[in-house]
Amino acid sequence: MTHYLDHAATSPPTREVLEAVWPYLVQVTANPASVHTPGQQARDGLERARAAAAAALGCRPGEVVFTSGGTEADGLAVLGVAPAVVASRGRERHLVTTAVEHAAVLEPARELERRGWRVDVVGVDGEGRVDVAALAEVVTERTALVSVMHANNEVGTVQPLAGPGGVAELCAQRGVALHVDAVQSAGVLDLPGLWALGSSAGGVAAVSVSAHKLGGLRGSGLLAVRSGTPLEPLALGGGQERGRRSGTVDVASAVGLATALAGAAARREHEVARLAGLRDRLVAGVLRAGAAAGVDVSLTGAAPGAGRLPGHASFVLPGLSGELVLAELDLAGVACSSGSACSADSDDASHVLLAMGLSEDAARTSVRATLGWSSTEADVDALLEALPTALARAQR
Ligand code: PLP
Repeated sequence: MTHYLDHAATSPPTREVLEAVWPYLVQVTANPASVHTPGQQARDGLERARAAAAAALGCRPGEVVFTSGGTEADGLAVLGVAPAVVASRGRERHLVTTAVEHAAVLEPARELERRGWRVDVVGVDGEGRVDVAALAEVVTERTALVSVMHANNEVGTVQPLAGPGGVAELCAQRGVALHVDAVQSAGVLDLPGLWALGSSAGGVAAVSVSAHKLGGLRGSGLLAVRSGTPLEPLALGGGQERGRRSGTVDVASAVGLATALAGAAARREHEVARLAGLRDRLVAGVLRAGAAAGVDVSLTGAAPGAGRLPGHASFVLPGLSGELVLAELDLAGVACSSGSACSADSDDASHVLLAMGLSEDAARTSVRATLGWSSTEADVDALLEALPTALARAQR
C-alpha cells in the first residue's frame, strides 16, 4: 500500500465528486449549448455547478469562467485580462508579479515581455513572502495587472494579500486589478474573504482555481473574473462562457469542481484543524529524524501557524540528495516529492527556493510532504518510520 503525501501535486477525486459527476458522464451527456431537451438538461447541470462554485467563492455565477485547469485560468488572467485592460482603460503595458509564482503565471508573463511589455518581478523574503514595499515601488496607477499567488505550492507560504498594508489594499488604492492564483489555497483558505478584497475600482479582480488540488477531476478549473473587468479570450470559436472561453464546456468536470469546492467550504474549519495537526506531527518528526541522523534538516517557507498552508511541509536536507531520499521513501511505499515535481521535468534547482535566498546546492536537496482530504495519521506514521533508513542510505 502506498502512503500518498503529495497532495500539492494532485489529490485523488473524492467519492462525493465521483458520485456527482457520474450522471453527467452516463446520462446527461448532451452538449449544453444544444436547444433540445437533453441539451437543456446539460445546461441546467452546468448552470447549477456555476452557481455552486460561485457561492463557494463568494462571487456571482456570471463571474465564473470554467477552464481546463489552473494553468489555463492563470494564462487567461495574464494574457487575457492584462492586454484587455490596456486596450479598454488606456493603461501602460506593465505587469507586476513575484519571483515565486507558478510557471503558469511566469511563462505568460515572459510572453508579455517578448511582446514588448515591461514586466516587474518582485522578490520575496527568506520564507517566500512577497516584499510588499518593493511591490509598492513598482505598481503605479498606470499598471495593467498585478499577479500574486494566494499560497505557494513549493513552500506553503501564504502571501500577505489581506489586511492593512497588504497587496490587495495597495492595488485597490492605486486602482489596479489584482489576479490571484488560488490553486493551492482553494479548499483550505477563505476564498469569499479573498474575493471581498476587490471592487470594480481595483484590488482582487480575478482568481484561479484548479479542481484536482481539492478532490475534483484533473483537467478542470475556473477563473473568477469580476464583472466589469475586461478580458480578451484566448480560445476563439463558438463563444461559450459568454465569449470568454470558447469550446464545448465539460459539464461533468464543472459539476465535479463545484462539488469539490462546496464540500471543502462546508468542512473547511474542521479540515484545516485536522490537517494542521497532522502536519505539525510530521514536521516535528522529520526534524527529529534529521537531528538523530546528523542531518541539518530545516523547514522551508513560513512557520506553521504563521501564514503557512495547513497541510504543507517542505524541507531542505543539506549535504544529501533530495532525489535519493525521495527514491528511498518511494521504495518504502511513501510518495513525497521535491517541491517542483508538479511543474517541471528538469533538474533545475527550484526558482522558488533560489528566490528565497537558498544556494543552488541547498535548493537541490528539497523534499515536500503535502497532505489533503484522504491523508491519515497512518500516512504520517509511514513517512516517519521510513525516514531514518532513507536518510542513512542517502548519506552513503
Ligand atoms: N498554480 C499553482 C500554484 C499550482 O500549484 C499549479 C499546479 O501545480 C497550477 C497553477 C497549475 O494547475 P493545473 O495543474 O490545474 O493546470
